[in-house]
Amino acid sequence: MNNSFKMVAKLIKKYNNIVIARHIGADPDALGSQLALREMIKNMYPNKKVLAVGNPSSRFKFMGTLDKCDDITEPTLLIVLDTPDIKRIDGAILDDYDYVIKIDHHPVVDDFANLSIVMEDASSTAQILLELFFANRFKITESIARLLYLGVVSDTDRFLHDYTSVKTFALVTKLLEETNIDFTSLYAPLYMRPLAEIRFQGYIYQNMEITDNGLAYIKITDDLLKEYGVDSASAGNMINDLKFVNEIITWAFFTEDKKSNLIRVNIRSRGPYINEIASKYNGGGHKYASGARLTSSIQIDDLIEDLDQAVLKYKENIEE
Ligand code: AMP
Repeated sequence: MNNSFKMVAKLIKKYNNIVIARHIGADPDALGSQLALREMIKNMYPNKKVLAVGNPSSRFKFMGTLDKCDDITEPTLLIVLDTPDIKRIDGAILDDYDYVIKIDHHPVVDDFANLSIVMEDASSTAQILLELFFANRFKITESIARLLYLGVVSDTDRFLHDYTSVKTFALVTKLLEETNIDFTSLYAPLYMRPLAEIRFQGYIYQNMEITDNGLAYIKITDDLLKEYGVDSASAGNMINDLKFVNEIITWAFFTEDKKSNLIRVNIRSRGPYINEIASKYNGGGHKYASGARLTSSIQIDDLIEDLDQAVLKYKENIEE
């Protein structure tokens, strides 16, 4: 067995106080992994104190509830899931902890943990946890299975993305065979959404700009969100639906977030890698799925120009 997986089991056994964190902006993979791991540890060690921390997401509250983190007064193990960089850890300060484990599938940004399990070729953090749980022969209950299934399905966009692999299917098959959960019933809570969002999606499709090179982008103001009754996070999630459009190679949404006084950027690509460009703009992510946070609208035009140039270069290279 992978030695790091064994080590995680030993550390969980050793610490009586464990905090599980993930990245800001909870999504089903981060949240599902966090809640599944909390439940797993609590089932194995009912007397340990295990907290899942970070800001809750109203959109995904059907998955479970989070804990408030008290002051850390005893030696505590921190397990950070699905988070490559320190600045995006939600609800935990590294220095408060005795030992830190990182479990992630993003390219490494900060090497912040005592023990790191980073599997860039894994489809999701939930997939890594599946592998870890099976390797250690941990008992996967039905509710843990549902959480991890939601994580994998959501991060792969229903097994669509390139990093979906034979291993993804093998682990999910094993999960379904062993727990027999009714997995199709999980899609309604995950994908059900208000009509306002569909109408807004129509607006995006009608109004996005497309450059000659094949960069599609749209600037979404707070007024527009209000007019349609859609929040900025939900608008950003619509980015995933443009993957198979002939004329679009790379695409980005720039969404005003008045509350935080910044512009959230979601970027996707099926051509050039975009994570290095995103990292120039207080962002990062995967090669084909990244995000950034801008503080001024001037930066929007700079980022559009950088992305457009990347698409152009990509097209020139494949034509050579
Ligand atoms: P999103 O478009 O928000 O779904 O994010 C796509 C990917 O980019 C995810 O893997 C995120 O972890 C990553 N990402 C999004 N925003 C940021 C950011 N501000 N800094 C670093 N990575 C980000």
